[in-house]
Amino acid sequence: MGRLMVSISGVRGEVPEVLTPRVAEDFGAAFAAMLGPGKTVVLGRDTRSSGPAVRDAVTAGLTAGGLDVVDLGVVSTPGVALMTKRLGADGGVVITASHNPLPYNGIKFLSPEGLSLPAGQGQRLKALWQAGQFSSAGAPGKVRANDQTHQVHVEAVCDILDTEAIASRRFKVVLDSINGAGIVGSKLLLERLGCELVHINDDPEADFAHRPEPLAENLTGLCEAVRRAGAAIGFAQDPDADRLAIVDETGNYIGEEYTLPLTAAFVLRHRRGDLATNLSTSRMMDAVAERFGVKLHRAPVGEANVAARMVQANCVFGGEGNGGVMDPRVVIVRDSFVGMGLMLNYLAESGKTVSALARELPRYEMIKQKFPCPVGQAERVLDAVKAAFARQSGARFNEEDGIRVDLPEGWVHVRPSNTEPIIRITAEGTPGGPARAIAAEAQRLVQEALEA
Ligand code: MG
Repeated sequence: MGRLMVSISGVRGEVPEVLTPRVAEDFGAAFAAMLGPGKTVVLGRDTRSSGPAVRDAVTAGLTAGGLDVVDLGVVSTPGVALMTKRLGADGGVVITASHNPLPYNGIKFLSPEGLSLPAGQGQRLKALWQAGQFSSAGAPGKVRANDQTHQVHVEAVCDILDTEAIASRRFKVVLDSINGAGIVGSKLLLERLGCELVHINDDPEADFAHRPEPLAENLTGLCEAVRRAGAAIGFAQDPDADRLAIVDETGNYIGEEYTLPLTAAFVLRHRRGDLATNLSTSRMMDAVAERFGVKLHRAPVGEANVAARMVQANCVFGGEGNGGVMDPRVVIVRDSFVGMGLMLNYLAESGKTVSALARELPRYEMIKQKFPCPVGQAERVLDAVKAAFARQSGARFNEEDGIRVDLPEGWVHVRPSNTEPIIRITAEGTPGGPARAIAAEAQRLVQEALEA
């Protein structure tokens, strides 16, 4: 059994052994204590069978603390974010463990704007939960239901698209919703966009049909379905429908890293402005920014950090290399609905295939590794990495989140995890040599520093 993972964005663990009803209720109470009685929060959950139990426990804590709760039912994470903003609520609560396997569930908290909690507030919530003293608020809050999320979300996404241009192409689309929270809204969206939809893993009552992270090894069924259907594109969502992976018209998984630069390239054709992403995301984003003459801002890893940078720099688009795209016109939260809509609009407007559009981006190879790193050792490791790479000519450093070293032929990002005693290495370079050489060098430095 794992341990309870508490981070600034919320809490996650196996249900009911680790994420117990008590933990869920206490987190609800802590959120209520943070916001104060008389406020309203919006709440939604993904399709996990543990969802209703976690909802009941967290709702008990929220209402005991005097908050009114608007229960959206089974909806996507971006759906909860959008409704938090649209309903003018004082916060949002999402019950999901995202791409983690079925035994897990989690609770994530959102700001009134629908964004992941800023770091300071996340720390405060965690401290309130740890202190564990929740004063009774007097009159308990009330719970009411709202079933409008899918409609509101689809409308908001269609508002940023040329829906007629997309519909006129009558695209054949295969969508794998992993029996998750994206099922109902995505179907509504793709029908609205005139697509001929082949929907696989679209049973909200069923368990996840494969391992839930939208990676190549988990999406062989989708690739096969795209080939069999002769579809123009295949999409894969994760269980809470914030991440999106793309399969091209030949049934080839092009990789999660492509979702963001492809959609960013489309957005910039119409709206010039800065982009933001995190330090572990592909250089393809630099290429897109350069093509359109805009600035790319790099923020520490974590959705809240990228969102904060987007607000601060007034970016027109942003997201993460894990297939999470964020368009401020909808909500600054990763949104697979936005990703699907923009990709279909890009296909319609350009008249090109997915594989042709992907070929317009520079090709890189990315290598990801992780190593156990005892608490307290990370500083020493990062110092060693910096000292060694500083001797290489043309090396540039960013130390906002671990250390990222940019070299002419590629880059490496070495960062200690915030939630586990591990250190992650992500390296990227032109295929066939540089990426592997940089990753191997970083790995050697990290291991040497840990053994010293
Ligand atoms: Mg997710």
